[in-house]
Amino acid sequence: MRLGIISALAEEQHGLIDAMQDAIKVTHGMRDYTTGTLWNIDAVAVLSRIGKVAAAMTAATLVEKFGVTHIIFTGVAGSADFAVRVGDVVVAESLVQHDMDASPLFPRFEVPLTGLTRLPTDLELSRQLAGAARRFLDNEENVVQLHRGMIGSGDQFINDGVRLAALKDGLPDLLAVEMEGAAVAQVCFELNIPFAVIRTISDNANESAATDFMHFVQTVASRYAFGILRNFCQG
Ligand code: SAH
Repeated sequence: MRLGIISALAEEQHGLIDAMQDAIKVTHGMRDYTTGTLWNIDAVAVLSRIGKVAAAMTAATLVEKFGVTHIIFTGVAGSADFAVRVGDVVVAESLVQHDMDASPLFPRFEVPLTGLTRLPTDLELSRQLAGAARRFLDNEENVVQLHRGMIGSGDQFINDGVRLAALKDGLPDLLAVEMEGAAVAQVCFELNIPFAVIRTISDNANESAATDFMHFVQTVASRYAFGILRNFCQG
């Protein structure tokens, strides 16, 4: 196994490169890919930058140029459900490109020519990742819930309750919104690479989302990502 680890922002991956043994940095296409050994796992860590195209480009490069066999995306997301609170963690069972709409040629949300609306994550990898998250969260002082379900990705920072409600109308079981996961999902589906997505909730995708997001990524996001990935790699 060679594991690709993607995050959008530096705060979401803070500490990971320092934990790598024999780290070698390769810069390609405006991104730094760091290869090395993470707690005995052969890994490549990279920041994708923000949005679906940026994430797709990064995932494809990880596979084609760096030969990764599995991919994990770790980052933050806005809540899209009352039961999902800031600080909670969501492991994706499937991902939807919530801004994809080629109707009437294809049903709304369907990725044209794949026949898929919900891009499924790898069951085994997601199970291991959820296990790693649970072990980490059990040691947290705050009560934090771990959710499994559908995450939506689109090229928009959602900070508007009305817009979120409209999205929820079309996708009632949506748990969280972010900007990269479903793009990585499509690339991994097309290249047949097992992948998983884990997101810590940074905001409620409403009018205070920008402030909450900024505060959360600076204080909590990296500690979570680091702890969960360490548990994952240590098995
Ligand atoms: N201005 C920010 C931009 C971050 S965009 C900056 O200074 O960098 C938000 C990032 O966090 C994206 O990578 C996205 O995946 C995730 N995210 C968190 N909350 C989100 C929300 N409410 N809507 C969409 N994406 C969100």
